[in-house]
Amino acid sequence: MLDLDHPDTPPTFAISREDGAILSIAKRMTLVSSEAKIELLAQAALHFAKMRSITIDHWGKSKPMLNAIDLLESDLQRLAGLESKNDYVTDWRGKHCTVCSSAITNLESYEDMLYCPMCLKVIDQGRDAVDQAFGLWCI
Ligand SMILES: [Zn+2]
Repeated sequence: MLDLDHPDTPPTFAISREDGAILSIAKRMTLVSSEAKIELLAQAALHFAKMRSITIDHWGKSKPMLNAIDLLESDLQRLAGLESKNDYVTDWRGKHCTVCSSAITNLESYEDMLYCPMCLKVIDQGRDAVDQAFGLWCI
């Protein structure tokens, strides 16, 4: 369980917020064209920069943490680099991903749950690495 009085708690929450923003950008990436993904990658760069500065301010140049951030960023770049003609942000019903042919899914009762599940797997390793390095599964 996370100890709310522990000095690591505020930066861990801050990292978790950036991680959430990046996940949300990654989901959006699975729905859009190659060109649009490059714009999203630029937005994500701000969140990665924030993650690195939080890490260095609080934990110093922790190798495992910074390596995990690097891995997530390179996974996201890989996702952005997949050639896509997707245009499914609003018109997704019955559509299939032009990258991997999977059905676009949406859990409509939840927010931010529209994405291509296969394409999102491209960033699984990076997400796991960040979760582990920062103990995000606790929160
Ligand atoms: Zn896909």
